Amino acid sequence: MLRVLRPFDPWKSPLCTCPPQLTLNPYTGCGHRCAYCYITAYVRDAFNPRPKRDLIARLISDIKRLRPGTLVSMSLSSDPYTPPEGELGLTGRALDLLLRAGARVLVVTKSSLVVRDADVLSRGRAAVMLTVTTPNEDVASRLEPGAPPPGDRFEAMAHLTATGVPVGLRLDPIIPGVNDSPEDVREILRSARSAGASHVVSSTYKARPGSMKRLLEALPEAAEALRSAYRGGERVGGYVYLPRSERVRLMEIVRREALELGMTFATCREGLHHMNTPGVACDGSHLTLAARRPGVAEKGY
Ligand code: SF4
Repeated sequence: MLRVLRPFDPWKSPLCTCPPQLTLNPYTGCGHRCAYCYITAYVRDAFNPRPKRDLIARLISDIKRLRPGTLVSMSLSSDPYTPPEGELGLTGRALDLLLRAGARVLVVTKSSLVVRDADVLSRGRAAVMLTVTTPNEDVASRLEPGAPPPGDRFEAMAHLTATGVPVGLRLDPIIPGVNDSPEDVREILRSARSAGASHVVSSTYKARPGSMKRLLEALPEAAEALRSAYRGGERVGGYVYLPRSERVRLMEIVRREALELGMTFATCREGLHHMNTPGVACDGSHLTLAARRPGVAEKGY
C-alpha cells in the first residue's frame, strides 16, 4: 500500500479529463493564500502550510512499488514551492528521488523558487507548469498575496527553458471583472511564449461561498461584475460555474491567442474538451515525454 503517493482524484470532478496519475503533496496547506483557492473547502487550517510527517522516509518506501514511467504530479492541493519549502527543501529531495526512480514528474507551481531545482528537473523526465493569472502586480499582490509576483514567474519560466526543462502556462482561474480582458490574456500568453512556454491550460473560476467572500474582500472593485457573472450560473458538484456560453467565450479568447502564438491549448474541468488541441494531455503532462535526455539513464535518472 502506498503511504504518501496517492491516486489523483480531483475531488471526483465529473469534468476532469486528466490522464491517470499519482500525486504527491509534500505539504498540507499552502502559504500562497490565493483568494480563489479551493482547498479551504477540504483542508483544515488551509493557509498554514506544514510539512507532511516523515515524508522522505515514506516516499522511499512508496518508490519501491513504483513502475518506471509512472506519472506523478506535484502538487494538486498545495503548491510544492509554498514558502516553507525555501528552508525545508522537501520538494527538492522528493523530486530527486522520483526522477532517479524513473517516474515522470509534472510540477505545478506559482513560485519562482522552482528554479532552485532546475538542474534536478533537467536530468529527468520532468516538466513545469507555472501559473500566472494576471500581468498586473498590484492585482496579483491582492489575489495571491503569499506568492511571488508575475514577473518573477516569467523569469523562472525562462530560466527553466534555458536549462532544458519543458515549461507550460496555467492561466487558471479566469475570474470575471478581474483578469478576463483580452488584453490581459494576450499579455500573459505573450510573456509566457517569450519565456519558452509551449502549452497553455486554462479554466474559469468555479465559485464557492468561502472563496467568493475572499475574492470580494480582496478585489471590491470587481464585486458587481463577479456577482452578476455568477447569477444564473450552472451547479457542478459543490461549485457554481459560469453559464456555459460565457465559459466558451472566455476559453475561446485564450485558445485563439495560444494558437496564434504557436502554443497548444487545453481547458481544465470545463466540459469543453472539444476545444483542446488534439493529442495533448489537458494538464500538460505530455511535456514530460519531451524531457527525456539521451544518456541520463546511466546516471540513475
Ligand atoms: S497556490 Fe494553489 S494551493 Fe496554494 S493557495 Fe494558491 S490556489 Fe491554493
